Amino acid sequence: MDMGLMGKRALVCASSKGLGLGCARALAFEGVDLVMNARGQDALDAAADAIRAEFGVEVTTVAADITTEAGQKAVLEAGGDLDILVTNAGGPPPGIWSDWNRDDFIAALDANMLTPIALMKAVLPGMMARGWGRVVNITSQSVKAPIPALGLSNTARTGLTGYVAGTARQVAGHGVTINNLLPGIHATDRAVQLDTGITQAQGITMQEAREQRYATIPAKRYGTADEFGAACAFLCSQHAGFIVGQNLLMDGGAVNATL
Ligand code: NAP
Repeated sequence: MDMGLMGKRALVCASSKGLGLGCARALAFEGVDLVMNARGQDALDAAADAIRAEFGVEVTTVAADITTEAGQKAVLEAGGDLDILVTNAGGPPPGIWSDWNRDDFIAALDANMLTPIALMKAVLPGMMARGWGRVVNITSQSVKAPIPALGLSNTARTGLTGYVAGTARQVAGHGVTINNLLPGIHATDRAVQLDTGITQAQGITMQEAREQRYATIPAKRYGTADEFGAACAFLCSQHAGFIVGQNLLMDGGAVNATL
């Protein structure tokens, strides 16, 4: 299926690895020129070089912390007139409900709620004026089904979801859609990090830790960054213009709910 995205211009935040990289690669496959961002320059340059070589699109890199005002300003300046925005950043640290103080909440809200909101506020006016735009926010399955150890993530991402629900309906009449993609467990560095924590806590091997988690997923495996990217590209496509303010779970069936 032709996604109708050839020649469009996208900013994909936090995209040197993992799910952000999956989205960047899927958009590049469709002929989208990219601004890619991450904090670490080396991995970012390597990812950008690989995309240029494989897909022949233009890629600009901005090494910056996207959760800072300076980082946001830098990616937006590099972005220019953007057609597509994919928001993403690292997730907050785990813990339990009584661990977190005001500063922890402010940091999580900054990273996973206020950063995507600031980026949307910056790009939406241009998209609306040009009559076309796509925003995809990478959130988490924790928005639909809370993960007890990730209370900071549950809180910040649900706040973002509320903002998107109202905002998406205010901009849709201008040809601009905003939707959220909710990853369940995917085979990225983040999953390795969480699995390593399980091996240490339970004294089991990496394979045993993985099999334990596979058992909680009806698909009996982790998702891949390529699958995730393909869904992102579809939400950005010409075919998805009537999909507005939705929260699409990509979790192999892990959230056990009818709707
Ligand atoms: P990942 O494999 O660890 O990749 C994270 C990417 O984001 C890297 O490119 C990293 O590069 C960049 N990054 C992190 N913090 C950044 C910042 N402040 N500014 C700019 N770039 C930043 O993680 P992932 O698995 O793709 O996860 C992406 C998001 O989805 C996270 O918020 C995660 O919590 C959420 N999520 C993931 C899963 C999963 O199973 N993978 C499930 C649910 C939710 P640098 O470190 O060089 O900056």
